[in-house]
Amino acid sequence: MMHMPPTKKQLMWIYKRLHSAYGPRGWWPADTEFEVIVGAVLTQQVAWTNVEKAIANLKSHGLLDPERLAKADVTLVEKLVRPAGFYRMKSRRIIGIAREHDRIRDAYAMPIEQARQVLLSMNGIGPETCDSILLYAGNVPTFVIDAYTKRMAARYGIADEAVDYHELKRMFEERLPRNERLFNEYHALIVELGKRHCATKPRCSDCPLGDKCKKKVKRKAAKKIMARKRAERKRR
Ligand code: SF4
Repeated sequence: MMHMPPTKKQLMWIYKRLHSAYGPRGWWPADTEFEVIVGAVLTQQVAWTNVEKAIANLKSHGLLDPERLAKADVTLVEKLVRPAGFYRMKSRRIIGIAREHDRIRDAYAMPIEQARQVLLSMNGIGPETCDSILLYAGNVPTFVIDAYTKRMAARYGIADEAVDYHELKRMFEERLPRNERLFNEYHALIVELGKRHCATKPRCSDCPLGDKCKKKVKRKAAKKIMARKRAERKRR
């Protein structure tokens, strides 16, 4: 589907619509900066509900502490993070990241691209995890892209379906004020949209973006054409 790049006004309209429909999301759901980091790694490839149990397990063993987790027994950590799936890989990743915690904290104060390079060089941190950690643990204004963002952007008509992570990230960042609070809330609201309305099977009828969404407009037009054809067949 061809798309028109959005204007700043359009992106702010989307934000305001989502904010008035869903309200502030209060992200990230964590007690400490280190808990955000661990959560960002554990949520890779699984829903957040799977992660909550693993976080609670780590907390009850006092392991949501970088120094203690860095020295923890891997077999115990595997057992605790099992509910989050991919537990062998993830337990090693969070232990490795606990050992790098000082470097991650130092990165928060660096220029954003330099900070991203530091995090991306660590095992188990790809672009989405990197930007989630910087934004939600370090309050660094970097926009997070995920599958929900790509889906909304393609359906709404502001990006191609095949758009890549950095292209879409740039699209938001070039048009929005570089503000950590705005980026924090915007991403959280898109996730809410993806869960409540713009799911795999979209629920467009009461979607807050419905009146300007290309996909909804197209679906409505296609329905009208079908209804007209049906009526014509009946008349014949
Ligand atoms: S109107 Fe439908 S396709 Fe468009 S954003 Fe909403 S749920 Fe997704």
